[in-house]
Amino acid sequence: MTGISERLLSIICCPACKSDLDYDKKNSRLSCKGCKKVYEIKDGIPVLLT
Ligand SMILES: [Zn+2]
Repeated sequence: MTGISERLLSIICCPACKSDLDYDKKNSRLSCKGCKKVYEIKDGIPVLLT
């Protein structure tokens, strides 16, 4: 199963601007609500490197 848990999603935030992240389930990505930066999810782990 791919994807990340709601719990994990609730504790992480954008490393660039500290805004909440939106989980794009279909594309398995996270997008920032603030700066619109997109982060990939690899093996269930969000890649939050800038
Ligand atoms: Zn951001």
